[in-house]
Amino acid sequence: MAFDFDLFVIGGGSGGVRAARLAAGEAGAKVGLAEEYRLGGTCVIRGCVPKKLMVFASGYPRLVEDAQAYGWEAQIGSFDWNTFKPKLHAELDRLEGLYGNTLNNAGVEVFDARATLEDAHTVRLGDGRTFTAKHILVAVGGWPYVPEFDVADEILTSNEIFHLEKLPKNILIVGGGFIACEFACILNGMGVEVTQYYRGEQILRGFDGEARGHVAELMREGGVNLHVGTDVLEMKKVDGGLWVKSADGKEGVYEKVMYATGRRPNTANLGLDKAGVKTGRNGEIIVDEYSQTSVPSIYAVGDVTDRINLTPVAIREGAAFVETVFHGRPTKPDHELVASAVFTQPELGCVGLTEEQAREQEPIEVYATSFRPMQSLFAGRPDRVMMKLIVSQETRKVLGVHIVSEGAGELIQMAAIAVKMGATKEDFDRTVAVHPTMSEELVTMKAPVRSA
Ligand code: NDP
Repeated sequence: MAFDFDLFVIGGGSGGVRAARLAAGEAGAKVGLAEEYRLGGTCVIRGCVPKKLMVFASGYPRLVEDAQAYGWEAQIGSFDWNTFKPKLHAELDRLEGLYGNTLNNAGVEVFDARATLEDAHTVRLGDGRTFTAKHILVAVGGWPYVPEFDVADEILTSNEIFHLEKLPKNILIVGGGFIACEFACILNGMGVEVTQYYRGEQILRGFDGEARGHVAELMREGGVNLHVGTDVLEMKKVDGGLWVKSADGKEGVYEKVMYATGRRPNTANLGLDKAGVKTGRNGEIIVDEYSQTSVPSIYAVGDVTDRINLTPVAIREGAAFVETVFHGRPTKPDHELVASAVFTQPELGCVGLTEEQAREQEPIEVYATSFRPMQSLFAGRPDRVMMKLIVSQETRKVLGVHIVSEGAGELIQMAAIAVKMGATKEDFDRTVAVHPTMSEELVTMKAPVRSA
């Protein structure tokens, strides 16, 4: 049977674009791609990229305070969202354009439309056109999840936060994961009064316990009004914002309320049932190790599969799919030892097992240090860096590295190479320190603080 395309990709985010580009460019396949919103997907348009630019913007008051402490005559005024916002969006437009150029240059036919599945080899566009394809890749990502309540229309999610008309005077952020913690710090840095509610005992569930505690403490010291063990009980619209009552009886009026309570796979009304693609409890597309769904001609990569929901992982999954399907080299994306960073203030970078996970697995030693880094100590800031290595007693391999510090996102990338290579504690020890740096502590921790 002759198909219209060798590959049709639904979704123009990180995973879909990488797969389309490689299949069309390197493998010479005839590729179509449909994107209903903007090329670049969550990462570029309403995630990692605009978030990181806001992280940078929010960090300047601290730098100016430091500059003053170091002898500079420096003053900082208030943050002007209306100066920053157009520049932010111009940058996103530029990146979106680059994504379009990349696809065009590779020969991918891009459809500015929503596409749904008709059957194992057919997609239907919003305008009714249908196309057949030998292979279909679903890479539609995720969507913010908000619990149901009456004033749900009034609240912000990470989709809307980049489009505020003005910065609010105060905000309540609900959630304790990546997005909630990052935006609590960003908005706090921009001068917004931030209250954060998290329903559990400690923010950043899933990360190393001590690292979570350290981040929470420093977020509070930095000015975030963080409440754990509480949630929104009641909320109603009032003049000037939303009145909120918490489960532990606190009441307050917030100009804005943001929910960052997780993201769900974007699979509603995608025609998965029609095509026979199996999904899991949260709507995620179930795939095997090669990203193949229950329908052999249909694959899925990225957040829609709810494996590790990070851009670089989606990109690797997209590339592995092309290796497997278009180069005949079956390739499993590598989900082991994926490093990640939470861009809070200070940042949290980690790779490998947490102490809690490692204890369950085998006997370990824990090496840890906490100190005041030279630069901020001199400036009189109360920052404290935390670094922690989890080491296998038997193999001596470093099973996990956890860093809470400025620039931890940058540091952990380097540490991740060593951990991925299987470095032992002794490999770390015989690496001569770079002095004076913060990261030299990673190779100078002599004795374990505990064994377990
Ligand atoms: P997360 O899953 O990280 O966090 C969701 C948070 O919301 C958790 O604290 C969760 O609590 C809480 N929550 C869930 N449901 C409810 C509810 N009904 N009521 C109250 N609280 C609730 O999701 P995010 O939205 O923060 O981020 C989504 C994903 O995007 C991340 O998992 C990550 O993969 C990715 N991401 C990565 C970033 C990075 O790499 N720096 C940055 C931003 C996002 P509990 O812990 O109790 O379940």
